[in-house]
Amino acid sequence: MNISSAIFDRSAPDLDSCPDESLPEFAFIGRSNVGKSSLLNLLAGEQGMARVSSRPGFTKLINIFTMNKCWRLVDLPGYGFAQGARKHRARFNQAAADYLEHRTNLCLVFALIESGLAPQQIDLEFVEWLVRHAVPFVLVFTKTDKVSAATVQTNVAAFTARISAWFEKLPAGFTCSAETGQGRHELLEVIDEQMTAINAASSRALVPAEHPGPRVPQNRKPRPDLNRPW
Ligand code: GDP
Repeated sequence: MNISSAIFDRSAPDLDSCPDESLPEFAFIGRSNVGKSSLLNLLAGEQGMARVSSRPGFTKLINIFTMNKCWRLVDLPGYGFAQGARKHRARFNQAAADYLEHRTNLCLVFALIESGLAPQQIDLEFVEWLVRHAVPFVLVFTKTDKVSAATVQTNVAAFTARISAWFEKLPAGFTCSAETGQGRHELLEVIDEQMTAINAASSRALVPAEHPGPRVPQNRKPRPDLNRPW
């Protein structure tokens, strides 16, 4: 997939402030400092599209971009550890949680994990939350240029081993580097495949009026067929 346009739509403080659900959305989330902004800039081919911040937890808003006029890239606030009483419990922004749980046009989440680190409790808890809430996701191991290929492989294998009991079939995993550009093509391909499947499903849904398909309750819009790995 080529990115021909990346247009900032808005920064939403909560789910209600997000745009209408007319376009498929692909969301990116990870621990603060995981390299999300750098990866988004790499994917869009535009430096400065997502703000690259060296300050952990800088962004608290849901930043939304319209891509190629037909899908949205959603930059979700990073997660961190709660302060105080619930210390060491993974915590993430309420707006992000609401978005992930309730956004019906959310197609796929890219869960970012730093490839140079052994499995972190906070990432494992987040992935567990995604599984519990049946949110479709793939794993993206970032900053592969920072460590050796063997270290990346060891950490990816260790992370996969820690989460494997939660799945019949593991979610897809990718490696990437905003420095070298590794993974850009593969991640855009994932989005391309999903868009192709969504477009095919919606043209199949165009049945003649005298043969209406099953009715979808107005308040329970299903997500597109996502080929979920579990
Ligand atoms: P965010 O907080 O998740 O949005 O992370 P940023 O994109 O702001 O990156 C955090 C830090 O990691 C910055 O200093 C980046 O320059 C650095 N960084 C991000 N991606 C990469 C990468 O692929 N390779 C290397 N070596 N550094 C990276």
